Amino acid sequence: MTDTVHKVLIIGSGPAGLTAAIYTARALLDPIIVEGTEPGGQLLNTMDVENYPGFPDGVKGTELMESIRRQAQRFGVEIFSKTVENVDFLERPLRIWTSDNHLYRCHAVIIATGSSHKWLWIDSEQKLKGRGVSACATCDGYFFRDKRIAVVGGGDTAMEEALFLARLASKVTIIHRRSQFRASKIMSDRVLKHAKIEVKWNSVVNEVLGEIETGVSGVNIKNVAEGSEEVILCSGLFIAIGRNPNTAIFERILDIDKNGYLVTKPGSTATSIEGVFACGEVQDKNYRQAITSAGSGAMAAIDVERWLAVTEVI
Ligand code: NDP
Repeated sequence: MTDTVHKVLIIGSGPAGLTAAIYTARALLDPIIVEGTEPGGQLLNTMDVENYPGFPDGVKGTELMESIRRQAQRFGVEIFSKTVENVDFLERPLRIWTSDNHLYRCHAVIIATGSSHKWLWIDSEQKLKGRGVSACATCDGYFFRDKRIAVVGGGDTAMEEALFLARLASKVTIIHRRSQFRASKIMSDRVLKHAKIEVKWNSVVNEVLGEIETGVSGVNIKNVAEGSEEVILCSGLFIAIGRNPNTAIFERILDIDKNGYLVTKPGSTATSIEGVFACGEVQDKNYRQAITSAGSGAMAAIDVERWLAVTEVI
C-alpha cells in the first residue's frame, strides 16, 4: 500500500489504453497503465495492418503497437506489467488491486481491457493462426483476393464477415453448426441470396488443413446430422463465433449489457460510476477497429480531463 493517489489509472495497453495515456500525459495528468495479460492487445495477433492511417505501405501489428507504446513512454507514462484482480469504485479515491497484491488509489480510471475473440480451440486452428486462420475480415480479408474463403459461425458477425469477404474472394463457404442462423433476418437473407456464398449447415470443423510455411489449404468438416465428412478447399478461414469483452472483474460493479459490454453514457465514455470511463472494444461491439479504439481512447482522456476539472478533486 502506498500513499500516492494517482490522477488517472488506465487498465489495458491496446490502442485505446495507450492513446488515452498519450492524451492524459500531455494534459499533465501523469497517467499510469496496468497492462494486463495481453500487452499491446489484439494487434499483436494481426498480420500486416494496412488500414491504419499514416502507413501507406502497411505496418506489422507488433511494430504499430511498439511505436504507440514508445510514444506514450516519451511523455513519461509508466506501464506496469500485471493484472488487475479487484476494484472498489464505491470509495474515493477509487481503489484497484493488482495480481501482486498491490493497492493503487486514483481519482479517475479508464478501462481499456478490450475484448477477446472466441476461437474453436482445436490444435490445427491455433497452429495456423496468422497463416490463413484469422478472426478479422476487415484486417485480413484483402490477403485472400480472388481466393476461396471459409467462415465459421451463424451470428451477425459471421454474416457481416461473409458479405465483406464475398466482395474480395472468388467464393465464400459458411460453416454453421446448426440448420438455421442466429443472425438477424435481414443479414441472413442477404447471405442466402448472395451468388458467391454457400452454406454448409449442421457442420463443424474437424481440422484445418495446411502447413505453417504454406498456409491454410482447406478445412475438414463434419456434418453432425448425417455423420459424413468432407474437405472444403480454401486459403483463408475466418472464425466469427463471437467475442468476449473483458469485463469479468467489473460484473455487479458497473452497468454491463446483455452481451457483456460495458455501458457508456450516450456521446460519452463515462460509465455508470462517476470517475470511471471506458474506451475501445470493452464498450464497442459495432466498429472494433484499431483506429476506432484509439479514437475512443482519446475521447476517454478528454472526458477524464474535463471531469477532473469540474469535480476539482485535484
Ligand atoms: P453471436 O453470439 O450472436 O453468434 C455466434 C455464432 O457463432 C452463433 O451462430 C453460434 O452458433 C456460433 N458459435 C458459437 N460458438 C461456437 C463454436 N464453438 N463452434 C461453432 N459455432 C459457434 O455473436 P456475434 O459476434 O455474431 O454477435 C454478437 C452481438 O453483436 C449480437 O447481438 C449481434 O446481433 C451483434 N452484431 C450486430 C451487427 C450488426 O447489427 N451489423 C454486426 C455484428 C454483431 P449457435 O447459433 O448454434 O449458437
